[in-house]
Amino acid sequence: MTNNSLPLMWRKFPERYLLMGNKCTNCGTAFFPARKMCPNCRRKGKLVDEGMSKEGEIITFTEMFSAPYGFELETPYFIAIIKLNNGAKVLSQIVDSAHEKVKIGAKVQKVFRKISDIDPEGPIAYGYKFKVVE
Ligand SMILES: [Zn+2]
Repeated sequence: MTNNSLPLMWRKFPERYLLMGNKCTNCGTAFFPARKMCPNCRRKGKLVDEGMSKEGEIITFTEMFSAPYGFELETPYFIAIIKLNNGAKVLSQIVDSAHEKVKIGAKVQKVFRKISDIDPEGPIAYGYKFKVVE
């Protein structure tokens, strides 16, 4: 059985649950999701699998008051762009965090949460979320 014959959710499993991305061995830039080519080095760069840092900080965030189908019970909630400690950026929901602690520069940590029963392949239905750490 080839990798491609697996259902999409299982092929996506390492990426979604382990935050598996990759890294350019030439310039050291980390990417998530994994890229096929380093935009800095092009063909000179060699990309290797790399697990992403579990910690980082909020670069920017927005509070969502209207939710897509399947998220109605969770409003309002925060969506943030997080810069991980290895330099890669991820988009994630912020959970389990007091409203006033969600701010630019806040340190965050990865947690596992069920995101949606409705559409497991939806664009933000990843297996991870982040919470603000004290
Ligand atoms: Zn590179």
